[in-house]
Amino acid sequence: MSVPSTARVVIVGGGIVGVSTLYHLAKNGWSDCVLLEKNELTAGSTWHAAGNCPNFSGSYGIMNMQRYALELYRGLADEVDYPLNYHVSGSLRLAHSHERMMEFDHVAGMARHMGLEMEMCTPQQLQERYPFLELHDLEGGLWDPLDGDIDPAQVAQALAKGARTHGAKILRFTPATGVSRENGEWIVHTEKGDIRCEYVVNAAGYYAERVGEWFLPFGGRQVPMAVMSHQYFLTEPVPEIAEWSEKNGRKLPLLRDVDTSYYLRQETTGFNLGPYERNCQTAWTRADDPMPDDFSFQLYPDDLDRLEWYIEDAMARVPLLGTQGVSRNINGPIPYAPDGLPMVGPMPGVPNAFEAHTFTFGIAQGGGAGKVAAEWIMHGATEWDMWCVDPRRYTDYTDKQYCIDKAKEVYGHEYAMHFPHHEWPAARNRKTSPNNDRILELGGQMGSYNGWERANWFAKPGDDASEEATQTWSRSGPWEPRVREECEAVRDTVGVLDLCGFSRFSLSGEGAAEWLRGKIAGGLPKSGRMNLGYFPDNRGRVLTEMSIIRHGDDDFTLITAAVAQWHDFEVLKSDLPDGLTLADRTRDMTTLIVSGPKSRDLLSNLTDADLGLGWLTHQQTTVAGKPAMLVRVSFAGELGWEVHADMENISTIYDAILAGGARPFGMYALNALRLEKGYRAWKGDLSTDYTLFESGLGRFVKLDKPQDFPGKQALQIEKQQGPAKGFVTLTVDAGDLDAPYMSSIWKGDEIVGEVTSCGWGYRVNTCIALGVVRSGLDAPGTDLEVEIYGQRYKAVVQPDQPLWDPENERLRA
Ligand SMILES: Cc1cc2nc3c(=O)[nH]c(=O)nc-3n(C[C@H](O)[C@H](O)[C@H](O)COP(=O)(O)OP(=O)(O)OC[C@H]3O[C@@H](n4cnc5c(N)ncnc54)[C@H](O)[C@@H]3O)c2cc1C
Repeated sequence: MSVPSTARVVIVGGGIVGVSTLYHLAKNGWSDCVLLEKNELTAGSTWHAAGNCPNFSGSYGIMNMQRYALELYRGLADEVDYPLNYHVSGSLRLAHSHERMMEFDHVAGMARHMGLEMEMCTPQQLQERYPFLELHDLEGGLWDPLDGDIDPAQVAQALAKGARTHGAKILRFTPATGVSRENGEWIVHTEKGDIRCEYVVNAAGYYAERVGEWFLPFGGRQVPMAVMSHQYFLTEPVPEIAEWSEKNGRKLPLLRDVDTSYYLRQETTGFNLGPYERNCQTAWTRADDPMPDDFSFQLYPDDLDRLEWYIEDAMARVPLLGTQGVSRNINGPIPYAPDGLPMVGPMPGVPNAFEAHTFTFGIAQGGGAGKVAAEWIMHGATEWDMWCVDPRRYTDYTDKQYCIDKAKEVYGHEYAMHFPHHEWPAARNRKTSPNNDRILELGGQMGSYNGWERANWFAKPGDDASEEATQTWSRSGPWEPRVREECEAVRDTVGVLDLCGFSRFSLSGEGAAEWLRGKIAGGLPKSGRMNLGYFPDNRGRVLTEMSIIRHGDDDFTLITAAVAQWHDFEVLKSDLPDGLTLADRTRDMTTLIVSGPKSRDLLSNLTDADLGLGWLTHQQTTVAGKPAMLVRVSFAGELGWEVHADMENISTIYDAILAGGARPFGMYALNALRLEKGYRAWKGDLSTDYTLFESGLGRFVKLDKPQDFPGKQALQIEKQQGPAKGFVTLTVDAGDLDAPYMSSIWKGDEIVGEVTSCGWGYRVNTCIALGVVRSGLDAPGTDLEVEIYGQRYKAVVQPDQPLWDPENERLRA
């Protein structure tokens, strides 16, 4: 097939993810799309994958993407008329501990929320489903009836067939060699000719970093990834399996011993064992081991020694495994992002370029990833909030060593539980506050926020600050008495928190105010004041929230969550008119939160500023002799100020505030304090899963303002019809557990909503959940239940006002 001179979209890479993206584009009418594959389709990681297709994930977004993929695959053979070897065998996940059973309970709850049924099992029930299983060390397990395995090459070919049927083109043996840009269009170069196109997609699998380099001159960044070597082996046929399969007319369920860290599957009548080993290995990361230009359909040499411990453990679990020898080993390249999740969405910094790569479970996720990628390209937005895979979640701190260290950590803990008070230790201290040493001296137990180190809590001598102590789902732990003390200090006296890495942009130029009014749903503050601005997408959903500080008519500072840095910068930059200046100043300046009833007294000794200026005002001043901006606002919900100052001056100010008697507090306390005020957190409570009205932000929506803004029409219609969902603050009789994100909210026998964030409020002494429920169930006093790790707890809808200081009197004092 000859290379067309134009196309609407060019996808680079013909693995499962590239073809799935092409299939979804073409199926939705975007048939003028071309996929370039340098070799034969599936030549990268896809051909040699084991093809396991679980629903299970600790992340709701990932599980939803997998749910969609598996549903697609179940109907695909018929839809495109291409035979598929897809065994929906069901799977058993084994639990060695009570904590693991709690994890399963939570995931089963999320599954139920999205219409899937998973079942908790006792050890005996596990054996009933899998008679060859030994039960030592087991607490129980989880049954997912829709898990199974699919032939990865076949499913990719089936998607390719579907794409072609809908009119898309696939060019095999046609490597893309680079890109250039002309008149707002991409030109993708190949050895057989150039293709001019509107959009380009990097779906190059483990070559994504290399393809990503082509985009550096156009604003791109080094793709944060590392390649790992991953193995599974097949055994000779096992007569007992053949007999069992024959008798039962199906395959054995897929088995995952996640606490040991392997899966074991029936392959024809033998076994397939695939461990994720701790002593794992990256590939192609050393100067003497460069990535080859072409590794199509190739494998690494076998390295079974690395797997020995896992093989022995698996043989003790399923002794049949030891009865036959290894027939074949597969050791192939698998790309890892620093958090182990793929990158699907806009390419950071580059116009009209998208990414769909770095999949560690690309077979299970490819079907859903194609839908997500296609939606980004076609609509600039996705049906479900997909922040969990958005490439912009990584910013400027992911150098190569970081990626290698994190890839090894994630791979070696592929099945690990992610406890709420645990911080993964690898590749830390990427960005530190000038106060970092001081914070550590004070007992700061650090967490990583967009690569910035912040204190989560402050330990006292004798407190157990070990990583081991965090291996619990409970709220209580060594941190808890300290978090309580920190909250009480903010309530009764004054606390200080170093909030380094608060994302900060400056926006100025004639017309800046008018332009900004066209981006947000509400109004702008007057000069000298600040307020919150909500940026809707075209469907009226919450794209983001920023604090807008106004210095002059057309002069603003915009402040937003640390992790939102690149996302929000692009929200602003994407259609910035000529004449306006936008700059990211996150690394230049930093912020201290000083909050509590004594904060005015404390600051009055350090500044001549007018501390009588009201709530939501700001002023330029000096604090401890150093230039600073004081903003009268408190995310902690007490009298307080944010002190914004240059990096070089912040230590002097921090030390002076500590010397003035402020107690240092950390992010755990801040989270508790903001929950009591009902303040929303980005990508928990605030996401594109909900409209502004559904998020309870109606007071920030001015439908009568003259400016148009994204989503205005959608919000107008929603207002007339009434929103389908309502945002609620619940008090929950939760015992020692807080509800994780996406825990179900029940009314009687029905799931009616979900928790978006939850924690203990130390000033009101109750567990608080923020969440979204079906309309009509959001009235104060409504009795509901919140499911937390499989148990339901009584919850009551609270009035639409903060639980702490409902009239904001303390804030305004
Ligand atoms: C041993 C092993 C077992 C696995 N088991 C499973 C499993 O059980 N379940 C599961 O879900 N996942 C599994 N995986 C992971 C899975 O294989 C990958 O996540 C998935 O194949 C990734 O698909 P992809 O389309 O992103 O990348 P790839 O399949 O690598 O495709 C990328 C394509 O891009 C092409 N390309 C690169 N550069 C260019 C260029 N310049 N021009 C044109 N084309 C280019 C390559 O040739 C390649 O075909 C396994 C991986 C390994 C290594």
